[in-house]
Amino acid sequence: MKTTNLIISLLLIFVLGANTACKNSNSKNNKEPEITCSNPVSKHGQLCVDGIKLVDKNGEAIMLRGVSFGWSIWWAQFYNQDAVKTFAQDWNCNVVRAAMGVEHDNGYLQNPAFGEECVTTIVDAAIENGIYAIIDFHSHGIYLEQAKTFFTRMATKYKDYPNVIYEIYNEPLNTHTWSEVKAYSEELINTIRAIDQNNVILVGCPSWDQDLHLVAADPIVGQTNIMYTMHFYAATHKQWLRDRCDAAMKEGIPIFVSECASMEATGDGPIDHVEWTEFVNWMENNDISWVCWSVSAKDETCSMMTAQANFTGPWENDVLKEWGIMVKEAIGEKNEKY
Ligand code: CA
Repeated sequence: MKTTNLIISLLLIFVLGANTACKNSNSKNNKEPEITCSNPVSKHGQLCVDGIKLVDKNGEAIMLRGVSFGWSIWWAQFYNQDAVKTFAQDWNCNVVRAAMGVEHDNGYLQNPAFGEECVTTIVDAAIENGIYAIIDFHSHGIYLEQAKTFFTRMATKYKDYPNVIYEIYNEPLNTHTWSEVKAYSEELINTIRAIDQNNVILVGCPSWDQDLHLVAADPIVGQTNIMYTMHFYAATHKQWLRDRCDAAMKEGIPIFVSECASMEATGDGPIDHVEWTEFVNWMENNDISWVCWSVSAKDETCSMMTAQANFTGPWENDVLKEWGIMVKEAIGEKNEKY
């Protein structure tokens, strides 16, 4: 190769490499060098909300599909770098969720350093592996001041990383009103936005994230890049919840399923394959992202691992429960391969 050609080639590689848009490997122009993105975040970059859709840096709709770690206070053993790597590379997840327990023994209220350590372990590993990470304040109550302190620290640390999504309140109970949750959410959104102007923020709603009709009647206004969480357990929540969400989406409410599973809302009982398939088809048809609960090894249907599973992966099917195998296969099949 002549020196001038070499210089031109190197320049081309540099320019294309620096370009924010990744080239498809099946580029129409066969003369273009083949450049593929190596991971979800290098391809899709900074996410934002356009209408009711989650979109990538090119404005194209994107679905995140992945797993939620279990309560950090009970399943911290799984909160490690290698587990995230296994979910990214072996399970093909493009998102993981760190569910930081807030209440209970050793929760954030009692031991904030431990909670932060669990979360940052997952987020840092997600950044390392080029996938998205949800920072979930896994609470069933309103703890405004503690949540403001926590998200101030998280936003300060991660504001420049497109990987991060903030989930400010896991599941408000049915004893909360939407106006209470809305006021809390607006304050948290303002807290985060003072530091991080653009990363997506997920907002909860009463009755364990099922009262989307209350949100639709009185949405948060004047904010950008926010979505509302819906959680479902397929054997309990059925067509009525999909209908409720359809009506909310018609009113312009963007929905993100940050937690879901196929059995009863207790996390136990038999898997409802019919309703699970209905929910998956509905999410796929509506470009709704979904995150499955949970990475844990309790003796219950929704724990993906058996007691024989190690804490890092990779996990063969013989150490996964039926639900774990279903999740691994569904995500592996539906997410893009890198
Ligand atoms: Ca940002």
